[in-house]
Amino acid sequence: MLALAEPQQRAIEHREGPLLLVGEAGTGKTEVLARRLAQLAAGGTKPGEVLLLAANRATAQRLRERAEALLDPPYEELWIGTWEQICESLLREHAAAAGLDPFFDVLGPAERLAMLLDRIDELPLRNREIRGNPAGLLAHLLAQIDATKAGSEQPDPELAELIAAHDRILAACGSLDRGDVYLVLNRLLDERPDVRHDLAGRFEHVMVDELEDTTPAQRAILASLAEANPNHLYALEEARSSAPPAGGGVGVSGAARRPVFRPSDSASADASSGEKPSAGPGTPTPTGPAGHEAWSLAVHPGAEVIELTRQYRDPTLRFWRCGSERAQAQAVAREAEHLIAGGAAPEAICALVDDPARGGPVAAAMEERGIPFHLSGPAALFQRPEVRDAIAWLRVLADPEDSAAAARALTRPPVELRSADLARLSTIARRRKLDLVSAAEAALESPQIPPEARERIQSFLKLYGAASAALEERRADVFVRRLIEAVGLRRQRLFAAQPEVAERLLALSRLAELAAAWTRREPNGSTRDFVRHLSAVADTGVEPSGVAEPPAPGAVQGLSREAVKGMEFEHVFLLGMERSEGAERSGRPARSSLVLSRVERGEGGEQPPSEHYAAALAAAEAEEEAHSEELFGPAEGLHATYRMLREEVLEASWKAGRELSEPRLDTAIDVNRAIARYMELLKLAALAQRPGDEATADAVEAVNGLLRQVATPEQQAELDASALDSYLLGSEEERERRRRLIAARLEPSLEAFLPRRGDGALSLSASDLGLYLTCPLKYKFARVFGIPQEPTINQRFGILIHNVLERFHKEGEDQAGEAGLERLMDLFEAGWRRTGFGRSDDELQFRDRAREAMRLYWERESESEGEPVWLERKFDIRVGEHHVRGRVDRVDRLPDGSHELIDYKTGERKSEAELESDLQLALYRLAARQAWEIEAGAGSYYYVLDAEKVAAPVRADDAERVERTVLQVGEGILGQDFEPRPSPKVCSWCDYRLICPAAEN
Ligand code: SF4
Repeated sequence: MLALAEPQQRAIEHREGPLLLVGEAGTGKTEVLARRLAQLAAGGTKPGEVLLLAANRATAQRLRERAEALLDPPYEELWIGTWEQICESLLREHAAAAGLDPFFDVLGPAERLAMLLDRIDELPLRNREIRGNPAGLLAHLLAQIDATKAGSEQPDPELAELIAAHDRILAACGSLDRGDVYLVLNRLLDERPDVRHDLAGRFEHVMVDELEDTTPAQRAILASLAEANPNHLYALEEARSSAPPAGGGVGVSGAARRPVFRPSDSASADASSGEKPSAGPGTPTPTGPAGHEAWSLAVHPGAEVIELTRQYRDPTLRFWRCGSERAQAQAVAREAEHLIAGGAAPEAICALVDDPARGGPVAAAMEERGIPFHLSGPAALFQRPEVRDAIAWLRVLADPEDSAAAARALTRPPVELRSADLARLSTIARRRKLDLVSAAEAALESPQIPPEARERIQSFLKLYGAASAALEERRADVFVRRLIEAVGLRRQRLFAAQPEVAERLLALSRLAELAAAWTRREPNGSTRDFVRHLSAVADTGVEPSGVAEPPAPGAVQGLSREAVKGMEFEHVFLLGMERSEGAERSGRPARSSLVLSRVERGEGGEQPPSEHYAAALAAAEAEEEAHSEELFGPAEGLHATYRMLREEVLEASWKAGRELSEPRLDTAIDVNRAIARYMELLKLAALAQRPGDEATADAVEAVNGLLRQVATPEQQAELDASALDSYLLGSEEERERRRRLIAARLEPSLEAFLPRRGDGALSLSASDLGLYLTCPLKYKFARVFGIPQEPTINQRFGILIHNVLERFHKEGEDQAGEAGLERLMDLFEAGWRRTGFGRSDDELQFRDRAREAMRLYWERESESEGEPVWLERKFDIRVGEHHVRGRVDRVDRLPDGSHELIDYKTGERKSEAELESDLQLALYRLAARQAWEIEAGAGSYYYVLDAEKVAAPVRADDAERVERTVLQVGEGILGQDFEPRPSPKVCSWCDYRLICPAAEN
């Protein structure tokens, strides 16, 4: 492990009281936080009692991975996440105290955009210019709303009116936006000292990375918690800390708290009541010293400050002046190829663009060289070809007049109509005034359409007909999944093992997840409504929530400057430095080399370097490297040599010509040399233009043979003495070596998609074990490719029951009397509405059964001797090399002081005899012993619909059996053994039978 400098070490060992860590990027702040967590754990603090907050998902992920690598299980759970994730979890736990709907949703920009588009008439937009693009305007206004809620400025009256309307629309469906989460939590901490003390006591230590990126609302939450427990550590990036915190600091003085939201500004935060918190005035910006001194005063006047020293050497810095956008992209791809050939991992290389949409030329240049490239960002999902194909199909099905979508569906796989035939179709559509789909039908009769194209059109119409029949009948999420299968977007790739394939499958799964999330919110919405929603979201490029970016192992990373904050790579290309806005946002992400690149000529002509670039160039006293476009693309080697030699030939001819005019004894030598150079030029021209893929060595030999027939002995001697052939063969070998190296990195393997933890160990849950044992191929579909299963009504019902019972017990109100039953029924009704159930006969039957089951549950609970002490309690233990994680629905303390582990089931009841070799509760007992130090004498399944509890037998060899099974499953997954295990019983219930060639009926 890397030895850290003394200040870093001091920070790691700091135990009590407030601490501000200050350091520029590269001082290892994130590493310090992870190691401090491990140090605290080694000193006896439970890892679950340390709260670690990060500004973005990438930093949170890195913190978690480092912590997992450093901590030794068992432990309960790690509270490491983004502000958004952590605050939502805390608020969910205290939903009742905060006056929120118990099943409230937190909507991201994409969902809010769709919702506002549907209710645009309710928004005060009379003074806004819509310009025929309401989605664009709304995306812009949503950004303003978010900035206002996160900040401390009072909105102007017009924006305040818009915020009020926006909040009303969200509240009507029991939802919050992300800004509200902080505002409501702030208010809760302020109004309920019991909750504040509970949270402050529960987290013995709080650590915050990237304090400079926190909003006033977030800092107010920290201030509340710090009042009751000052064990806070804040990491601050010095380069960006020169401005003192605006809108109030974290300070524990009462005046500095609540800088954003005043409870008096809003009557209630009850999302179901229609009232929402509103952004309020901020407290004044602290005045006084600038830089981290100001932060230090704001954080805590008495906080210790540790200034970290740089941990890594400065990267080598280069400056590029590129002739055009394409020249810049080609230079990056060329350099990336050299780096990879030299041993660099592709994922250690990053191209930073100021706007993800500008990543296109880089992606094209990488593709020309066969280098895998992954562009991430909010809009990246919608730029992936397979997702655009699926959206095109959805759009043309919802609206046959959408000619752009129809053209894409016709020309992309699986139809693949050629462009000339598409042009013929368009002509038919224009002449007969038809949409493209109707024109496709008409074209079947047209003599202008060749037979091969006719077949393709027929296959399109067949797919189109089948899908449009289902469009009206199916729920949006079901329809999207079926469409993906029907069009075959996924099928042909299922058995390939390349990472790129897995990434595509995951992207399609994200689309299906978006549909599922939308259906949950809009249970009565039609597929057409969903398509409208999806088109608006895809067009505006706002971030869809709830879907994580898929991993992109083995690929050069393309990121926006905004997204790279907190990440580090070995080699970074910071592109587009003719515009420097946001360049400072990228921090210092490079460890070994950093290239600042600017484009000299854009579409609008000459572009001067940005001030930021010019200042960096002057400070480094460096020279710019010029890059122009390679007209011949990546195969420029021969062309470039040809161009160079052409100059030499002209020079040699000039020299020989001069000597011919004044002949000397050695004139013939110079003339022969000039002719030999010219022959070499011919050789290069022949090689550059050779057809096919003949090896360079063979082609050189063939051209040399022809030249030998025309060269004189003197000229041949010149040719033999030339180093050109060995240079050409050497370059070919070098290129071949680079190609082999890149190909070796792309060795087909799903390794990077296996569910691993920060320490590299496999991460398994109880249900993963069951899934793999049932059918390894099913495990691969579900967990490696991440293809979401279509939740059955039973599964959705099961989730609802779990949520309702968890809420019921967590509220901890008097559940014995009739009030308890009433509360349980209320929770069930609220949950039923929010889980997206409709009014089909099947669903209504489930509802009746569930209401009766709730009543029986309450009756049984009233008589129960056990007392629920933990709900949804998590664990993370190590079995052999692997992590096994999970959560237990309920842990009861029995009258004799022992504990009983309970797992709710909504499926078919099993008898005790059938549970003889049960693995799940045996695993839970092992986890309770290791992670919570509880010896659970009993474990039962609670069959909620039957209101019956069945105890699972406890066997002496339980621990050994669990260990054996985990090791067996782990070995299979790590060995990528995903052989199907078909059987009629299992396959008939498998969601993947449609796409599984091994499925048995
Ligand atoms: S259909 Fe059968 S064989 Fe195929 S994945 Fe499902 S369970 Fe396995």
